[in-house]
Amino acid sequence: MSKVNVDWSKLGFSYQPISQRYVANYKDGKWGKGGLTDNPNVTLNECAGILQYCQEVFEGLKAYKTKDGRTVTFRPDMNAKRMIDSAKRLEMPPVSEEMFMEAVDQVVAANRDWIPPFETGGALYLRPYLFASGPVIGVKPSDEYQFRLFGTPVGSYFKNGVKPITICVSDFDRAAPRGTGHIKAGLNYAMSLHAYITAHTNGFDENMFLDPATRTYVEETGGANFLFVKKDGTLVTPKSDSILPSITRRSLITIATDMLGMKVEHRPVKLTEVGDFAEAGLCGTAAVICPVGKVVDHDKVYNIASGMEKMGPVLQKLYDTLRGIQLGTIEGPAGWVHEVK
Ligand SMILES: *Cc1c(COP(=O)(O)O)cnc(C)c1O
Repeated sequence: MSKVNVDWSKLGFSYQPISQRYVANYKDGKWGKGGLTDNPNVTLNECAGILQYCQEVFEGLKAYKTKDGRTVTFRPDMNAKRMIDSAKRLEMPPVSEEMFMEAVDQVVAANRDWIPPFETGGALYLRPYLFASGPVIGVKPSDEYQFRLFGTPVGSYFKNGVKPITICVSDFDRAAPRGTGHIKAGLNYAMSLHAYITAHTNGFDENMFLDPATRTYVEETGGANFLFVKKDGTLVTPKSDSILPSITRRSLITIATDMLGMKVEHRPVKLTEVGDFAEAGLCGTAAVICPVGKVVDHDKVYNIASGMEKMGPVLQKLYDTLRGIQLGTIEGPAGWVHEVK
């Protein structure tokens, strides 16, 4: 395979089609055999369920090079399991963990040259997704589905240095109680775009969504979970049935508890508590941890003690440990790093 022509230092987070992607189709009540294709386009009927009633779920994970030159993914089995949960909630036929893992491995192996070198801090971002491809006009689940998985090379999230961000408390809600906030579905994102653009227009980096029922508890942003650190060093993560169960957050909780001997509280967090924390951050696959320096709720400003210059020491320790495990310089729990041969 010829080497690809990419300036790794200029990579941001945008879509660039690469050589091969995985496709499998569900028809007549079963999943067909999946395989690789070089065609990046999807041809759909005008009445496909995804186009009419938004039946779609997705995942996001990264493949990258370790310091010693191996090609790995981080806990892909967790993405497979979460996509099964997401699919069930939208009445879609789940993709088995086995097929999901095979799709990840095949796409990574077939696109090795598109994985940024270790030194760049970049990764091959992988996007598995499942959508209704069969026609539906009466409101019901489709009879046909497609599962695809493509990759796109992305640069280091902190290329220009780590700077704490400023967040506003959104006047919009993200996910209803007993709704779909806990699944990774495109529909949750479609309805968050207006809030996102509004926050940006007003000069903020991101939104903090509150629980819609009482608007007193912290939920999450449009695409990342919150982390807080108390003055005594305890890690606090908001708990709610409508927060997306971030794999990064769950991994950080395990690291904090089992490896760093920290105290961890996973519980409802009141908005009024936010100003009392020593550190705050967002977590997700894209950045691992992005520090938050300030939360603004109209006239009320919650300044986080760690300030606007750098990530606080506790979050930095958690960040370094998780990155070390991912890059193979720190030994993590068994099975977290999956090598693609
Ligand atoms: C994907 C996602 C996250 C982050 O999850 P990770 O598994 O850590 O990448 C957080 N919140 C929402 C709403 C998401 O869609």
